[in-house]
Amino acid sequence: MAAGGAERLTQDVFDRNLCIGCGACVDLCPYFGNYRGRTVQLFGCDLPEGRCFAFCPKAEVDLERLAQAVHGRPYDGSPLGHHREVVAARAGGRMPPGHFQGGGTVSALVACALKHARADTAVLTGRDGWTPVARLVSDWREVGACATSKFAAAPTLAGVNRALADGVARLAVVGTPCQMTAVAQMRTSPLGQPDFVDPFAVTVGLFCNWSLEPRELARLLAGRGLDPAQVARMDIPPPPADTMVVETVGGRLEVPLREIKPLIPETCFICPDMTSELADVSVGMFEGRAGWNTLIIRTRTGAEVVAQAEGEGFLEIDPLPAERLEHLRLAAAEKKRRALRILERRNLVGAGRKDDHAAVHIAREVVEKIFR
Ligand SMILES: Cc1cc2nc3c(=O)[nH]c(=O)nc-3n(C[C@H](O)[C@H](O)[C@H](O)COP(=O)(O)OP(=O)(O)OC[C@H]3O[C@@H](n4cnc5c(N)ncnc54)[C@H](O)[C@@H]3O)c2cc1C
Repeated sequence: MAAGGAERLTQDVFDRNLCIGCGACVDLCPYFGNYRGRTVQLFGCDLPEGRCFAFCPKAEVDLERLAQAVHGRPYDGSPLGHHREVVAARAGGRMPPGHFQGGGTVSALVACALKHARADTAVLTGRDGWTPVARLVSDWREVGACATSKFAAAPTLAGVNRALADGVARLAVVGTPCQMTAVAQMRTSPLGQPDFVDPFAVTVGLFCNWSLEPRELARLLAGRGLDPAQVARMDIPPPPADTMVVETVGGRLEVPLREIKPLIPETCFICPDMTSELADVSVGMFEGRAGWNTLIIRTRTGAEVVAQAEGEGFLEIDPLPAERLEHLRLAAAEKKRRALRILERRNLVGAGRKDDHAAVHIAREVVEKIFR
């Protein structure tokens, strides 16, 4: 579907305020950079086709092509996307103890994949002061250093581009739904190179309703006198709580959500994916069971990675109660409908033509199914 270069990226994404700063177009060439969470074009480029445009999760994303490539099935608009199983999970005894966001499932899966040589390098997200940054980790014992959620949009995928330029062949990557959409495009050779080999050993997606604009978040937290070096963890607990909780080394601060919500980039509201439908596995919080995660196993690779992590003592698994699954479905369906309404209002849903200037292509009958 994608046919365009830097010029189309500027017109279709930057000029329409759709860029989320995922990093997919950064460090492919000298032309795009990310400064404190914001992606900018540094120099002009007149190539008619480029990976920058082909990887972008906000330009001409063909969900049918990607669902076929990742899952071997059509995109059907179902709330959670294609999956084999949904379970409860947490890090097992083999995982070094750490400070995790939830149960440490993400860190445990990645650590196990590195330790048992499934992947050579993992692309994770750390923090430099307040700014989320890509981190490349090859030693499984260091995975925990990137644990916990940085709720700001992160240029993580610039780390993928750097690792590939350095010749790393088997990558693990962790990211939000927009990042997993870009990764799905990276793994399916959108420019059709004949000798293309998928460089990803495993892709771990996060659940995400929205992220925050990194510089605005930094300004807000610094304004409360917080020192980034003292922040151990941030959390946005589910309703009825209506605060963002910042845990510091010596205490805890709560910021009302009414102050946080204006920092959501408007491009988050056109994202129809709450659970990283194009990843091998997806992980989110387990509301009501602290210290555990919800884990969606999607692909054969995902099932193998989870089975190995469980077998090696990196992961513990429990059944997920039916009412939790239903709650997750309803929340994901609501995000899809909300996004589709805005996409349609902004004329950003394409009908499968390369020059639609659409953000996303979804068949008409699937759009109608989502609204039913
Ligand atoms: C912006 C954002 C919004 C989220 N919204 C929801 C939500 O609405 N509902 C829900 O259930 N879960 C949400 N999550 C996921 C949740 O916060 C946990 O990441 C998930 O439950 C995994 O927990 P864990 O203990 O296994 O993670 P850990 O083992 O602590 O690992 C966390 C991983 O997240 C990665 N990471 C951290 N920040 C970012 C970032 N900004 N971008 C990309 N990767 C990052 C790190 O590389 C690390 O590997 C969100 C996460 C993010 C980053």
